[in-house]
Amino acid sequence: MVSNESLGEQKVVTEIGEFNNYLQQVKKKIISIIGYGNQGRSQALNLRDSGFTVIIGNQKDKYADQAVKDGFQVLGIKDAIKKSQIAFVLIPDEIQKEVFEREITPYLKEGDTIVFASGYNYFYGYVKLPEFVNVIMIAPRMIGWGVRDVYEKNMGFPVLVSVGKDYDGNAEGVMFSLCEGLGVFRKGGCAIRSSFREETLVDLLTEHSWAGAMLYLFRAYYDVATNLGASPEAVILELYGSGELAEIAESMKDIGLFDQLGTHSHTSQYGQLTRGPMYITQDLKDTLYKEAIKILDGTFAREWTEEQATGLVVFNRLHALAREHPMEAEEKKLYKILGRGK
Ligand code: NDP
Repeated sequence: MVSNESLGEQKVVTEIGEFNNYLQQVKKKIISIIGYGNQGRSQALNLRDSGFTVIIGNQKDKYADQAVKDGFQVLGIKDAIKKSQIAFVLIPDEIQKEVFEREITPYLKEGDTIVFASGYNYFYGYVKLPEFVNVIMIAPRMIGWGVRDVYEKNMGFPVLVSVGKDYDGNAEGVMFSLCEGLGVFRKGGCAIRSSFREETLVDLLTEHSWAGAMLYLFRAYYDVATNLGASPEAVILELYGSGELAEIAESMKDIGLFDQLGTHSHTSQYGQLTRGPMYITQDLKDTLYKEAIKILDGTFAREWTEEQATGLVVFNRLHALAREHPMEAEEKKLYKILGRGK
């Protein structure tokens, strides 16, 4: 039995359960990991250590060298696709359309399975696949090195999963077997039944809301506090440099958003609960909603595609502008003293 705990409309799967029947047959297949970067290396090592047969598809360069050093057979992408029955596509989202067209799609065979680690390209239709393949998504909610680190500690990690196309009727069994091989179902891990649409929405909405806002809110805080006489060092350590922010995030993960509030002093809790809501205006909610719609209707994706096609001019200018703030130079100075930074 697959254990499904109700989470609204979601289903949380914490063990391979009935799909265990598929495990041995999936282990007999050849899996190619296309791209040996952040996710690619970790997922390849986990699958191999779990007894799956793994080869790497990568062009010849430093990533390929690392894969050879790790003891994998490394082929060009086209040859890896020809040789494997299951292909994990672990190259950056923005180049997948082109790589699929050139090196993956023409070499797919009937019954092959494509595994995406994000919903982006399949949801927006940038990658189009033939009728005769299975399409699944196993999207880690964890950065690449973390996927390997937790596996080595015998722990699991969360993923969003979905079957995009079930050509041969086995896609779900293959998907959960691969989750087992990646180490998802170890202690603390789970697979959330999701969709390519949902994964794209929640992933991008994070980037377009609090993650983006945090950078600019920190800068605004810096301006106000330093104008009132605080030193740059004190501000930078307070905001993120001390590691307290990371500890708060860790505690949200471990005990939950609401219970972690109780780990702060009463003065802090009172301040957060009275002042926090002042920033959450109707304007902010309207903006969040509009941006969510721009994700779902493809407006953002089209903008980003166009930006890449026209040479990343805006992207590079915004990077430079973000760094023009005095906080950047102060951070560099402080981090040099502390022996941190690049
Ligand atoms: P990386 O940026 O680490 O990918 C690097 C790999 O892509 C290298 O093997 C590189 O090889 C290859 N690559 C880069 N450019 C090209 C090209 N033009 N042609 C062929 N290969 C190329 O990717 P991530 O691991 O960050 O992301 C992979 C997938 O995982 C994405 O779908 C992403 O959304 C998803 N994901 C990523 C997470 C993360 O934490 N990073 C978290 C969850 C999901 P080379 O340079 O040799 O070509």
